[in-house]
Amino acid sequence: MSNVRKIRTFKKILVANRGEIAIRVFRACTELNIQTVAIYSEQDNLALHRFKADEAYLIGKGKGPIEAYLDIEEILEVAKRHDVDAIHPGYGFLAENEQFAKRCEEENIVFIGPKSEHIRMFGDKVIARQMAIQAEIPVIPGTSEPIASLQEAMLFTKEHGYPVIIKAASGGGGRGMRIVRNADELQPALERARSEAKSAFGNEAVYVEKYLENPKHIEVQVLADSYGHAVHLYERDCSIQRRYQKVVEVAPSLTLSDEQRNSICESALQLAVKSGYINAGTVEFLVTGDGSFYFIEVNPRIQVEHTITELITDIDIVQSQIRIAQGYALSDEQIGIPSQSAIRINGFAIQSRVTTEDPDRGFVPDTGRIVAYRSGGGFGVRLDTGNSGVGANITPHYDSLLVKVSTYANTFEQAARKMLRTLKEFRIRGVKTNIPFLENVVQHPDFLVGNYNTSFIDTKPELFE
Ligand code: ADP
Repeated sequence: MSNVRKIRTFKKILVANRGEIAIRVFRACTELNIQTVAIYSEQDNLALHRFKADEAYLIGKGKGPIEAYLDIEEILEVAKRHDVDAIHPGYGFLAENEQFAKRCEEENIVFIGPKSEHIRMFGDKVIARQMAIQAEIPVIPGTSEPIASLQEAMLFTKEHGYPVIIKAASGGGGRGMRIVRNADELQPALERARSEAKSAFGNEAVYVEKYLENPKHIEVQVLADSYGHAVHLYERDCSIQRRYQKVVEVAPSLTLSDEQRNSICESALQLAVKSGYINAGTVEFLVTGDGSFYFIEVNPRIQVEHTITELITDIDIVQSQIRIAQGYALSDEQIGIPSQSAIRINGFAIQSRVTTEDPDRGFVPDTGRIVAYRSGGGFGVRLDTGNSGVGANITPHYDSLLVKVSTYANTFEQAARKMLRTLKEFRIRGVKTNIPFLENVVQHPDFLVGNYNTSFIDTKPELFE
């Protein structure tokens, strides 16, 4: 079959990103015998990702630390000048920028990710919901279009009652959401949500959804090739969140029945297939106490928490992304997934996001130079880091993720114990980290039996002790 496919050779891949995800992608490339190119901002002059690539180029001279990584034309210039075949966007920055994917195509550089039309479709949560409805998967009751007036929002609450949540159509990263619990709050919330959406995402469109009390956040990893074949890599439970942002993730879920797991994973797959999705993506759901599940959004990119799915399935998701972008089919030996039944879950994996945030001061990001750094490690421990070690300078310019600690074992209890042991081994001086808080999470009795939902952190003051 491969003779009818057009396989592109990738000699060199540029990663349009920084930190741990840039290094994660370089590692995948090196194992595939592909040369790697890093880009780095002036502020990242000494950042680790710069030294982990075969070549590295300064970008964004005189520009801000974030702007450097968002300059599509400059990044493409670097890519063309250095004979780059493909660009991996990582997560954040340009990963979900439709224009970037399009410009790569125009320059005949492969964008390692979905097609620009899917970035557009899933970048707008209202359109994504419409797509999910078309694919006949359950969505949370919500408005089918952005809200044009207060009256429209009131009409929705009349039918569905309170609480509701106002969400920015272009929102992401846990931002642009507002819970409304009664009629008095509706108008001010709508106005604020709009203006926040406009300033944060450049799009003031917001819509209204029923707010589910205390759901679990369950998401399904999907891989799809360019020939209409798709598989799921089962689910991750990402309910341990703070301010709608994931803190600790678990795979597989401890509490889903086989039947629920199958329906959720099948639904995710159905959406991927019906929308013609290509490459790696994640379909996110909320699951209520009675076991019902509802679609919330698709993330058309690699995610921070992909590591735990790799650990339980033994599938390298980033390498699969690269192979799919080259034109290989899932069933080709280069990817090696002949069918859904070839994917098996083994054991349990947990990821903790160690950040340079101070739990004693409301998790404000801390900055400074790391003066002592001893890492945890050992059997069943995976570390993904972008800027750690003695001498690393933690600046306020970028997100505060320091190291992702993932543990893997036969049982959930063992994986959790391994996590606690690993976190306890860390010694980091010079910047504050959230490690003491994470230790409290992974040894909490409710965590250990899967008895938690998205309100876990907010309802457990003992985690902050
Ligand atoms: P983002 O794109 O910013 O990550 P999501 O739509 O994925 O936003 O939602 C992030 C989190 O916000 C969810 O995991 C959940 O905790 C909460 N959330 C979102 N929508 C709802 C809802 N309708 N009801 C209850 N919680 C919600």
